[in-house]
Amino acid sequence: MPETSAVYPGSFDPITNGHVDIIERGLEVFDRVVVAVLKNPKKRPLFTTKERVRMIQEIFASKREVEVRAFDGLLVDFARAQGTRVVIRGLRAVSDFEYEFQMALMNRSLAPDIETFFMMPSVAYTFLSSNVVREVAGLGGSVEGLVPAPVLRKLRSKITGSKKVQIP
Ligand code: ADP
Repeated sequence: MPETSAVYPGSFDPITNGHVDIIERGLEVFDRVVVAVLKNPKKRPLFTTKERVRMIQEIFASKREVEVRAFDGLLVDFARAQGTRVVIRGLRAVSDFEYEFQMALMNRSLAPDIETFFMMPSVAYTFLSSNVVREVAGLGGSVEGLVPAPVLRKLRSKITGSKKVQIP
């Protein structure tokens, strides 16, 4: 049987346990998941592209079926270059729906051969976003249990280094 694969794109600034949950669910369905880290998200990222890629690589170091790549440009072009026809996106709540619906249909009009798969995370992660993690950590709150250990370490050094606040 040919190998099945999917691309999971996002900013991952930083990757959270919600993203990890979606990647693990993706691995139940696809042989290979390519995590595609957007190089230039609209907002100025907290972590550089290299840092975001490295953290994800560290988290999935033991899983050869997870590849991490930085990308910019059109997602459908990137997906094709990776030899995949599937894009995975996570859906947390109704609030995600409108944007995701727009993107999926725009990508379909650009590339009818590429399909978007939506996956729901565990209920525990439906409230979780990179944005909330950045805000809470920046104000000195604990984000333990919300992000993988390498992210926790990196957040501690980045935020204590720049703003002199403590993250427990
Ligand atoms: P973007 O910058 O495009 O919003 P993100 O990096 O935040 O992307 O997320 C990438 C994908 O992961 C999106 O489809 C987003 O909806 C999904 N996602 C983000 N956080 C979670 C979560 N806690 N549970 C499930 N999916 C999530």
